[in-house]
Amino acid sequence: MLTMKNLLPVCSAGSLPKPAWLAQPETLWSPWKLEGDALVEGKQDALLLSLHDQLRAGVDIVSDGEQSRQHFVTTFIEHLSGVDFENRKTVRIRNRYDASVPVVVDAVARTKPVFADDARFLRKHTSQPIKWALPGPMTMIDTLYDAHYQSREKLAWEFAKILNQEAKELEAAGVDIIQFDEPAFNVFFDEVNDWGIAALERAIKGLKCETAVHICYGYGIKANTDWKKTLGAEWRQYEAVFPKLQQSNIDLISLECHNSRVPMELIELLRGKKVMVGAIDVANNAIETPEEVADTLRKALQFVDADKLYPCTNCGMAPLSRQIASGKLAALSAGAQIVRNELGR
Ligand SMILES: [Zn+2]
Repeated sequence: MLTMKNLLPVCSAGSLPKPAWLAQPETLWSPWKLEGDALVEGKQDALLLSLHDQLRAGVDIVSDGEQSRQHFVTTFIEHLSGVDFENRKTVRIRNRYDASVPVVVDAVARTKPVFADDARFLRKHTSQPIKWALPGPMTMIDTLYDAHYQSREKLAWEFAKILNQEAKELEAAGVDIIQFDEPAFNVFFDEVNDWGIAALERAIKGLKCETAVHICYGYGIKANTDWKKTLGAEWRQYEAVFPKLQQSNIDLISLECHNSRVPMELIELLRGKKVMVGAIDVANNAIETPEEVADTLRKALQFVDADKLYPCTNCGMAPLSRQIASGKLAALSAGAQIVRNELGR
């Protein structure tokens, strides 16, 4: 089991901004500015810069900042066979916005490792614990048009088997925590309980490293912030999936808390799990003060034991500027330190 040096180990939920020489900043699905060998080298340089930024900001559990991927779901799917990226179809993503997506035309398979080289590269450059993010099975099927299996559950199950192969290689590369991003868990509650969590458990089968699931209300893009406005005064989406997640084999649950209308007491439903508490809002440019971060963490401490609380961001920060993202990470660390001091650790 992974033991942490610090109480309240700080981490980020996902992506971090890329340098402007690598990809257009503050844009999702931003095209690369380099190609060929220069792109390979550029992605590695960006990964090292991102690692450096995280360490300087006081992040305890570091990541690659997703510097080598264009998008958290699409890039993984691009490496699979059975998916046609040329003839796309338009679908509604998480019942929220239309996007032109690839089509599943045949049995899906992973023909080669996707992120193992990147993970080995990161491992070689730091002795800090590493967390690596993969898309979750349900979120993957929600970002595709399926013309082959004609069953969301069947396709999710195939993706879970593929993710398990990838996760085992990431574990072998020295990754300490493998995280599955499942924003779709906040939308399709019946499916989550029927087969979504089972698919996730298939994806982590046989892993010895720790595992996490990240469930948020999405990046700070307009479609998501508009959707949030329709959710009313209290966001109780988590209530539908937490009981079953609490019973699952997943070790950590990553949540959106700061500036959200999620009632903090819902975390009680996860008692016993480690909780990555989102104390940084990724949907606005205001940098939180350390005291604001500390306040969110204190509220969470009513419902999660101190040795199971991981201060985190609400979601990935790829759409923000590098300067703002660094400021937010530094505030997260400083806020965590305030609470550590209060706990006498
Ligand atoms: Zn997220």
